[in-house]
Amino acid sequence: MSVQLAVKPKLQPKIAAAGGSYDLVIIGGGPAGLTAAIYAGRARLKTLIIEKMILGGQASTAFQIENYPGYPEGIAGHELAQKMADQANKLGLEVLWGNAIGLKQENTTKLWSVDIDDKTVKAKAVIIATGWENAKLGVPGEAKFRGRGVSYCATCDGAFYKDKNIIVVGGGNSAIEEALFLTRYAAKVSIVHRRDELRADKILGERARSHAKIYFFWHSIVEEIKGDKNVSEVVLKDLLSSKKLIIPVDGVFIYIGAQPNSGFLKAVVKLDEKGYVLTDDKLKTSAEGIFAAGDVRAKILRQIVTAAADGALAAESAREYIEKP
Ligand code: NAP
Repeated sequence: MSVQLAVKPKLQPKIAAAGGSYDLVIIGGGPAGLTAAIYAGRARLKTLIIEKMILGGQASTAFQIENYPGYPEGIAGHELAQKMADQANKLGLEVLWGNAIGLKQENTTKLWSVDIDDKTVKAKAVIIATGWENAKLGVPGEAKFRGRGVSYCATCDGAFYKDKNIIVVGGGNSAIEEALFLTRYAAKVSIVHRRDELRADKILGERARSHAKIYFFWHSIVEEIKGDKNVSEVVLKDLLSSKKLIIPVDGVFIYIGAQPNSGFLKAVVKLDEKGYVLTDDKLKTSAEGIFAAGDVRAKILRQIVTAAADGALAAESAREYIEKP
């Protein structure tokens, strides 16, 4: 598979071969997985990270992170991700690029087999740190125009919209942060939100409301995305009046929340009704030897700092489990 390395660690991770046996396999190389790798490396556990795309995960696509302690001026997502990856690489991190698709435990040895595409590795313990992916609106035109006006990543695609009209859908932290980022390029950024109150942090809401390039469509939803070759207009519905509005746009950036990457775990560990992995306070899942960390876990606050904290705790719990006589 092709690997996008948005993060180019100064120290390259050792690329693992299939068929290896490890103390600990971490599925997912975002802040939770990388922090778990740092703690596991310091505990001298033989550790592998399986990652399908980018070390740093979703965090590496954030243009600026303002609430990670130690960076009062903020830090670019890819820069923070690179620092984390470098720190893990220094401790001998091994990476296997691929998509984890299955997990099963051997009856006799109690080792876990992790299937990655057409390969398998074995581990005494596993940490699930697969995070989430952007939720989809599910409206006509969304899939058709993906990459041709519909985007889920402002940092990746924003520069294509210089002096253009953009809408951002959603009212959470991601939508407002990315709308602010897009004002660097776009002539006008309209935020379409289904309520008249933002879910985002107050400080972000204040910034967006006072920005000269940002406009709001309150209590409105997108019903359809239209165009010919590329997006040219969206159909909005005002939920109070039920009136429809057609607005010409060049780009639609969708930030309406997250879907946990836990589909391959359904038969392995207990999930909540939304698909997030249930854990106890030591981050153990319902399956012995499997732990979960970061945004894929059922929890209250999904932030880089809480993902990192999860990674540390999951690695410590995994170490305890592995070293148990
Ligand atoms: P989020 O906080 O879940 O917000 C999703 C937004 O999309 C909400 O405003 C929601 O509306 C709206 N929405 C949901 N489904 C919709 C639909 N079908 N149609 C229209 N609108 C819909 O998601 P997020 O902003 O992607 O953030 C995900 C997580 O990452 C959150 O825990 C967030 O705090 C965290 N995060 C943190 C930061 C930061 O701290 N700097 C930055 C980015 C993300 P309602 O409000 O009406 O539900």
